[in-house]
Amino acid sequence: MTSSYNARLSSLHIHSVYCDGSDDIETLCAAAFQKGLRTIGFSSHAPFLAKRAKPPPPQTQWHMRPQDLGAYLAEIHDARRRWAGKLTVYAGLEVDYMQDIAGPADFAEYRTLEENALHYIIASVHYLVPPHGEPFTVDGADEEFESGLRDGYSGNIEDAVNAYWDAEEALVEEGGFEILGHVDLIKKNNAGEKYFSPQSEWFVKRLVRLAGRIAASGITVEINTGGLNRGRTTELYPSPFFLTLLRQRNAPVVITADAHCAAHLDGCYPQAMEALRMAGYEEEGVNSFGSAWR
Ligand SMILES: [Zn+2]
Ligand SMILES: [Zn+2]
Repeated sequence: MTSSYNARLSSLHIHSVYCDGSDDIETLCAAAFQKGLRTIGFSSHAPFLAKRAKPPPPQTQWHMRPQDLGAYLAEIHDARRRWAGKLTVYAGLEVDYMQDIAGPADFAEYRTLEENALHYIIASVHYLVPPHGEPFTVDGADEEFESGLRDGYSGNIEDAVNAYWDAEEALVEEGGFEILGHVDLIKKNNAGEKYFSPQSEWFVKRLVRLAGRIAASGITVEINTGGLNRGRTTELYPSPFFLTLLRQRNAPVVITADAHCAAHLDGCYPQAMEALRMAGYEEEGVNSFGSAWR
């Protein structure tokens, strides 16, 4: 990518039929080209490779199956060759981070493959791993969050939310990825401030600390419109306040749609651009990570 790269013309967080998306690779490429996008990257929910023994990773329907990873990378590289000159296509993964269970490091060897290499990783915290009880997703159904909170954290929301920020900090510290996914996903089940106030001192303190660590790491933060696209949230990830903290510390950002279908490839991008402007970002400063990519 060059310095003239236009933030609005890329879509780097895309799910396909390899995980829980509804469209295949070719359909998504064709739709992206039709929409006038210049750059797309596929980021299926990475499989759990079960390299680390304990505890075993969760079994889900929304992650890619481990046996499909080779075909996934090959199919994207085929599309990359086919679309060369019209659309730049990257092979990525959205990798779950669960401390000592799963993370970007599990995919290090795929980045240096001679053929069909993995170009980039979006690292996301979807799971809390409580001291007791089972790991649970923070963005799943309300009942799952409710029972995870009760069984894993004795119902103490502050403990659960702090555990989420601990995981984000540990992930940033470990590194090994390009884009930090939906950094404040923990708010998803907090509509109407059901569990906590994002203005609470304890909460704001963690945001400020995390923003500082992200900026120091040089990792790019995604401005994710997925919640808006799917009608699940009324604001972007991250919140306007978090975005301002990131801007003040000069953290690089990229707009993504977390698209699960072709129609959402650039969904709600105007809102994301507006949020970035409000936070003080200049358009040219968006997506400054490109030079590091292969
Ligand atoms: Zn995600
Ligand atoms: Zn995603």
